[in-house]
Amino acid sequence: MAIFHSAMEFARPAAAGQNAERLMTPTEKVRKEQSIQVNSQASLAADLGTRGCPVCNYVIKMARDFFAHWQYALSSDEAAQESFATELGFCPRHAWQLHSMSSPWGESIGLAALTEKIARALAIIECDETASSNVYKIPRVPENCRVCAMLKDAETAYVECLATFISDDEGAQLYKRSGGLCLPHLARMLAIVSKPVRKFLLTTASRRFEQVTQQMRNYAVKREALRRDLISADEEDASLRALIHLVGAEEYCAP
Ligand SMILES: [Zn+2]
Ligand SMILES: [Zn+2]
Repeated sequence: MAIFHSAMEFARPAAAGQNAERLMTPTEKVRKEQSIQVNSQASLAADLGTRGCPVCNYVIKMARDFFAHWQYALSSDEAAQESFATELGFCPRHAWQLHSMSSPWGESIGLAALTEKIARALAIIECDETASSNVYKIPRVPENCRVCAMLKDAETAYVECLATFISDDEGAQLYKRSGGLCLPHLARMLAIVSKPVRKFLLTTASRRFEQVTQQMRNYAVKREALRRDLISADEEDASLRALIHLVGAEEYCAP
């Protein structure tokens, strides 16, 4: 979605220690990049340039990076295939996200160790009344999915960094000019900031929703009056921004 692109272009960390990096699992690689990104004031300032929610964007970007590494590792590295089989894959949402970034060839190589393990497990399950609950336990759920845990941790760390950033004047000014956080992420941030920052965040969010209300109304009136030429860029994507700020970005996938 075009709305995210400007904010999601993080400054890429320099590729230091290539050999050490080769030994990292995809999770570790993503965590390493995340720690560099999270601590950078410049990247936080850039993140606030989005018209969507910066926290949603951060999680989306981290998930994409993770799956880009992981689909490659699964198709080319036996250790990754074994570890994927041992952990019984990912939760439904993240399994489908991995699928969306994999080729049928890579997936056929990457999933075989997992399906073989499941074939064996099913063959030795007792046929008594425990069968149902034993099979029920096989697929991962958000509570025991590694990707869910990673994204949850990364999101918490990012919200903390952003809260510190906007708690000083310069950050507050940038935040005031930004589109602000979606409501679920606003709620998270409100839980960890001081009372004056809470007031600032709530006032800013309320103003943003007032503005977007007006922009959507203007858009509708101009469409009805067949005055499309008078529709501004803000009015054009107002309804999409309204949805993102109400419920979070469509592609957001943390638990
Ligand atoms: Zn959000
Ligand atoms: Zn998951």
